Amino acid sequence: MASALSDKLARLVKEMRGQARITESNVQDMLREVRMALLEADVALPVVRDFIARVKEKALGQEVVGSLKPGQALVGIVNRELAATMGEGQAQLNLNVQPPAVILMAGLQGAGKTTTTAKIARLLREKFKKKVLTVSGDVYRPAAIEQLKTVTAQAGAEWFPSTPEQKPLEIAQAALDYAKKHFFDVLIVDTAGRLAIDEVLMAEIQSLHAALNPAETLFVVDAMQGQDAINTAKAFSEALPLTGIVLTKLDGDSRGGAALSVRHITGAPIKFAGVSEKIDGIEIFDAERHAGRILG
Ligand code: GDP
Repeated sequence: MASALSDKLARLVKEMRGQARITESNVQDMLREVRMALLEADVALPVVRDFIARVKEKALGQEVVGSLKPGQALVGIVNRELAATMGEGQAQLNLNVQPPAVILMAGLQGAGKTTTTAKIARLLREKFKKKVLTVSGDVYRPAAIEQLKTVTAQAGAEWFPSTPEQKPLEIAQAALDYAKKHFFDVLIVDTAGRLAIDEVLMAEIQSLHAALNPAETLFVVDAMQGQDAINTAKAFSEALPLTGIVLTKLDGDSRGGAALSVRHITGAPIKFAGVSEKIDGIEIFDAERHAGRILG
């Protein structure tokens, strides 16, 4: 990996010493480094462009021009803008509805939906003393239903059985009825993923959304997905009113630029980060820390 952005910017700042004012060309040089860093972190190109334009506008405004240390001021703007972009919005789950509050999990196959379903179930149960039911609508992969059963048991929550012979809508309705009857606080509905976006998948999850009226619709996305994350996020956010994002596999070695892309495209807040395969491997997303990781 190329040397860290902060080192490169420090060098440029050094070259600027003695200058009373930052010039447009200084800003251009620095923004070129920022652009490179974002691309190296796999932030999607249109998102990088938009971000750089916003930073430039701020940098050329009074915040930098006329400041005693324009270089540091610019670094500060980049950091703050990045953290603000990713950290905007309500990070807490909003489950303030007539129980059972439904959480609908959306995302591609392998993104980490089933694992995250169990992680959230455990979190709600242990930290917030909620009574949580999970159900799988993945009728295409019996193994996925079994996997949810296993991880739900690890979470200490209850699992509602489903079979590949049923229709996802039928399953979801039965689980919701059961959750109501047995006074569950939360029902988490895991859904089928596909390796790529397809219309059948989207229509199915849209009908689940309409029937369940979920309090939260979480889009689960693999932080390692890099540039592709933007297309996936676009398709899901056009199909569903997403209320939050879960960025998984942040324990991997990616710089996690997908966070910025997905936040930009969906407009939904990033609520959680997946940080291991284990049941307790989930954290509230920390935008400032993540900004540092993206910039390297
Ligand atoms: P789904 O197809 O979307 O339901 O994805 P799964 O929940 O089955 O996850 C796919 C794979 O990613 C599994 O091997 C999980 O253990 C793994 N996984 C999920 N979340 C994380 C995470 O935050 N970190 C790591 N390292 N692995 C994860």
